[in-house]
Amino acid sequence: MQSKLPQVQTNIFSVMSALANEHKAINLSQGFPDFPVDPILIENIHQAMKDGFNQYAPMPGVPAFREMLAHKIETLYGVKVSADTEITVTPGATYALYTAFATILHPGDEALVLEPAYDSYIPGIELQGAKPICVPLVAPDYHVDWHAVEQAITPNTKVMIINSPHNPSGYVWTSADMQALIRIVQTHNLYLISDEVYEHITFDGRKHLSVLAYPELFERAFVCFSLGKVLHATGWKMGYCVGPEALMAEYRKIHQFLAFSCNTSLQVALSKYMLDAQTYLSLPHFFEQKRNTFLAQMQQTPFTLHQPAQGSYFQVMGYEKIADKPDKEFAVWLTKEYGVATIPISAFNHNGHDDKLIRFCFAKKDETLQAAVERLTKL
Ligand code: PMP
Ligand code: GLN
Repeated sequence: MQSKLPQVQTNIFSVMSALANEHKAINLSQGFPDFPVDPILIENIHQAMKDGFNQYAPMPGVPAFREMLAHKIETLYGVKVSADTEITVTPGATYALYTAFATILHPGDEALVLEPAYDSYIPGIELQGAKPICVPLVAPDYHVDWHAVEQAITPNTKVMIINSPHNPSGYVWTSADMQALIRIVQTHNLYLISDEVYEHITFDGRKHLSVLAYPELFERAFVCFSLGKVLHATGWKMGYCVGPEALMAEYRKIHQFLAFSCNTSLQVALSKYMLDAQTYLSLPHFFEQKRNTFLAQMQQTPFTLHQPAQGSYFQVMGYEKIADKPDKEFAVWLTKEYGVATIPISAFNHNGHDDKLIRFCFAKKDETLQAAVERLTKL
């Protein structure tokens, strides 16, 4: 069979997690928490199942769940979106993003991607017969070079995909970034896909600036969220996409033939559970403490810190005092020889560009982080 993705291999998260398991390494590679989900939520889901919520949900999502999400959006970002026509529940953010690409892109279109980029974006663009145009973010903090973005735009450019707080760098967009974005999408009449899965994880008093809060952006955007990050339950694969009614109508035409609908009992349980805003408002403090603990402990190791994560649950670090290997080789070596698995940043660059940096996931129990650091102090 002729491959649709001839260059693509098994993604780095699967590779590094498998290697971690094989070598019984502490897994700070793939981004997932190792602490438990709130038992009350588990109980609520169980109850929803016992109450009979086990059949297909409505195609766009359970109405009460979408109402709760619309309320959350209004209180956080001061904007009213229609639960009925502007929110669609999806099986995770990866799916939400893919469906957005499928909705917007036609063969021959170009899509702007800022790299390093989450690994699903480029295949999602290519599968539509469209062309990714990659613009590098500026290391080591990975801010946006707006001049370079402007230079990369051609008459074929249809959409730009953005991600703040950013995986893997932890960079959080500023209001100057948002103003630059508004100017660019308006000047060049671009659609926008905004990956905001880490919306609740920002540090040091920073506020997440959502595309939802800017009418000039939202009118042309699909904004994608993941509940895996919010509930410490990445395995549940639950997310949602928010977009203006006319765009969302087209999005749903595709969604109805991909997944059709998502897990009903989970949506029923969440529509009540997440009415308590503390379920998500507690996250910045919770993860900031984890970042601080991790960074304080990592000072005992030879890894170099260029910039503390501003958001997300990832920390990028340098290993120039330890080895001169390419980052992929270094990450494999570290897993096998020192029992700590990480992600090489070059895996987020289409051309394998290597800044010799690796990413640690600090969404872990304090004892897991401590055990990992103990191993790394032997370096
Ligand atoms: N976007 C980014 C930036 C991510 O880090 C992730 C992974 N956690 C996703 C999207 C995908 O989220 P989900 O697991 O809900 O598909
Ligand atoms: N988002 C997670 C990360 O960046 C992993 C998602 C996946 O395994 N596909 O680590």
